[in-house]
Amino acid sequence: AKADGGGTVRLFEDGMLERIRVRQFMKQELGGALEREELHLAYQPLLDLRSGTVRAVEALLRWDHPTKGSVSPAEFIPLAEETGLIVPIGDWVLQTACRQATEWPEDVSVAVNVSAVQFRCNSLPLKVAAALARSGLAPARLELEITESVLLHESEHNMRILHALKGLGVRIALDDFGTGFSSLSYLRLFPFDKLKLDRCFVSDIGRSSQSEAIIRAAGEMGRALSMVTTAEGVETADQLAWLKANGWSQAQGYFVGRPSRLPFDLAYRKGGQTE
Ligand code: C2E
Ligand code: CA
Ligand code: CA
Ligand code: CA
Repeated sequence: AKADGGGTVRLFEDGMLERIRVRQFMKQELGGALEREELHLAYQPLLDLRSGTVRAVEALLRWDHPTKGSVSPAEFIPLAEETGLIVPIGDWVLQTACRQATEWPEDVSVAVNVSAVQFRCNSLPLKVAAALARSGLAPARLELEITESVLLHESEHNMRILHALKGLGVRIALDDFGTGFSSLSYLRLFPFDKLKLDRCFVSDIGRSSQSEAIIRAAGEMGRALSMVTTAEGVETADQLAWLKANGWSQAQGYFVGRPSRLPFDLAYRKGGQTE
């Protein structure tokens, strides 16, 4: 039993060490990813459920590592946040998304994710203003997605940054709605333009009347507060139909379109898919 215990501990330690080594390696690699041009943006369409057209896309960061292949943002964004690399990387995302969006039709807007670390910097509004100025993108075509984890605490800093961003004429979306605890108090304090319901609720459509009740209530609240209501993670025609029937304004998910280098599928602009 003693030998077994020791073996288990060693195995556990080996696993831990291996993971720490991989993380260290990836952190180092991430440091040069921007210069080596290993990053690019993929764009996922947001389908407007009333018109059946795509007038917005979300920019999602992609890292193609020469030996590790495609690394998931769920894996490398936390590393980028720990090292502070998210600040230059976030700047690059903002500038690239704004520049690329100027090449699309003028009625298409782009949403960019903002990390908690970027949000903590006083310079964020300046950087957003600079990205708009350099690209010439109309501010109304840029949306910033902010999660509850960014707004963990109600603070003067948070309110100042939010209002400064809003003052630039960009729109602000509350991302991953329903996964944290602070959303409701923030809705009371700040006029978000959009509520993005986390995909964990959407996957329950047709399976849990409890989740359906929550989605209905969230939609009603969003509409009452004049927000655009967007449901994430829409993977089936049934989910899409349910959301449309319940008054949701936008749907995003694999059923509508996967993230791709192309900004959006032209077919959706003709409105075929939802009919
Ligand atoms: P998010 O902002 O909630 O983005 C949506 C995620 O859901 C994306 O994952 C997208 O590919 C995925 N997704 C879209 N439709 C479906 C669907 O129908 N089913 C399922 N299962 N998943 C779907 P992705 O691209 O892996 O990004 C993960 C997270 O990484 C994002 O979650 C966001 O928090 C973060 N992220 C991505 N790009 C950036 C960035 O440029 N800056 C920052 N700070 N964070 C980013
Ligand atoms: Ca997002
Ligand atoms: Ca989200
Ligand atoms: Ca998420």
